[in-house]
Amino acid sequence: MSLSLTAPAQTAPSCADDGVWLECIACGEQFAPFEEIMYTCRACDGLLEVRYANPPTFEEYGSDGRVPDAPDRGVWRYAASLPFDEGVSLPEGDTPLHKAPRLRDSIGVNRLRIKHEGMNPTGAFKDRGMTVGVRVAKELGVDRLACASTGNTSAALAAYGARGGMETLVLLPKGKVAAGKIAQASLHNARILEVDGNFDACLDIVQELAARGEVYLLNSLNPFRLEGQKTIGFEILEEFHADHGHYPDRIVLPVGNAGNTAALYKAFRELIQAGSLAPEEVPKLTGVQAEGAAPMVEAVENGADAIRRWESVETRATAIRIGNPVNAPKALPGIRNTGGTAVAVSDDEITAAQRDLAGEGIGVEPASAASVAGLRKLRSNGTIGADEDVVCLTTGHLLKDPDAAFAAGDDPEPVPNDTEAVIEHLAE
Ligand SMILES: *Cc1c(COP(=O)(O)O)cnc(C)c1O
Ligand SMILES: [Zn+2]
Repeated sequence: MSLSLTAPAQTAPSCADDGVWLECIACGEQFAPFEEIMYTCRACDGLLEVRYANPPTFEEYGSDGRVPDAPDRGVWRYAASLPFDEGVSLPEGDTPLHKAPRLRDSIGVNRLRIKHEGMNPTGAFKDRGMTVGVRVAKELGVDRLACASTGNTSAALAAYGARGGMETLVLLPKGKVAAGKIAQASLHNARILEVDGNFDACLDIVQELAARGEVYLLNSLNPFRLEGQKTIGFEILEEFHADHGHYPDRIVLPVGNAGNTAALYKAFRELIQAGSLAPEEVPKLTGVQAEGAAPMVEAVENGADAIRRWESVETRATAIRIGNPVNAPKALPGIRNTGGTAVAVSDDEITAAQRDLAGEGIGVEPASAASVAGLRKLRSNGTIGADEDVVCLTTGHLLKDPDAAFAAGDDPEPVPNDTEAVIEHLAE
């Protein structure tokens, strides 16, 4: 597998377009990026990765060790490591890296920062992938975009498709998508199909539709999505370094299809290739899944190279209710080669972490809180040391799943329409 931590510099093959090409991570076959529509390797069906001959250094992004002022921030500041100079943008990225001192003290690590991806335009990190993916769709001249989704991908696709003036189709698992996400897809004009099956079944169908030329697929199987998402890694490293003079020891993130895990690993490898990051400085990628949907954790614990598809999955964290993470072949080496790990947490641990984050003013949906729940668990069992500097990724906004927020929070207290009665009530 050509996914080692120290990828050597490459020369662009003749099929490259402007120094960009697609390469199969399983057999190494290389393809022209925009000549025809391709999601997996034509030779062996392996996952494809976007490659560049010369990935840029941090200096080439103009950061100079400092984080620049708005409006030069966000995903497209990193255009030198993306296939185009501009995308269909809302704009996205440039999310906060919060401090959470009480949470840090209660978990017991040296530093804790929360990268809140819920602050993207549609409220989740998926926007970073869609700004690139929809731009590629325009390059390819397709007219109908589609995805399977646990909710957030559909919201992002609908919004970016609308922005780009394109038709969108989303397949959702019936009854398992949080209210805010369906509302977004609906209002942004996606055609919504509710499938009587789980997310993995939706993805099977939409892959079939894409293979038959009915739609252009924008799930994270599409390698261009991950190009946008790798900017999460650039932003974390740059900002943490600007504040603390070194990189974090570990990045903890929720895992569904494992696209983000793969994207962060790719960000690190490109920075190593560019000479901006030393292999020993790479943060340990640590994935967190819900106990009811944990095929990646199972594979990491067994030291396996591939995951076993879980046919039946269940968790309150619906965004990561996935039994067949398609990016596992990219993400498993990422976890292993960075010295990271993976852990499963219960729904109750997820809700407790959601409340903990809310207590610091950081409002996230359940799947996002899995990162903090996983950190707490790995800290308590000694896997993570008290001396570590940790960044937790929170992937989606609290308002995405209002029902979960109501269930996790306290109920409103009814009082009479009378000040004296209110004062009396408050004294109780
Ligand atoms: C999509 C999503 C995830 C899972 O991310 P992957 O890249 O598929 O592992 C986690 N949390 C939220 C809120 C999401 O929308
Ligand atoms: Zn191949």
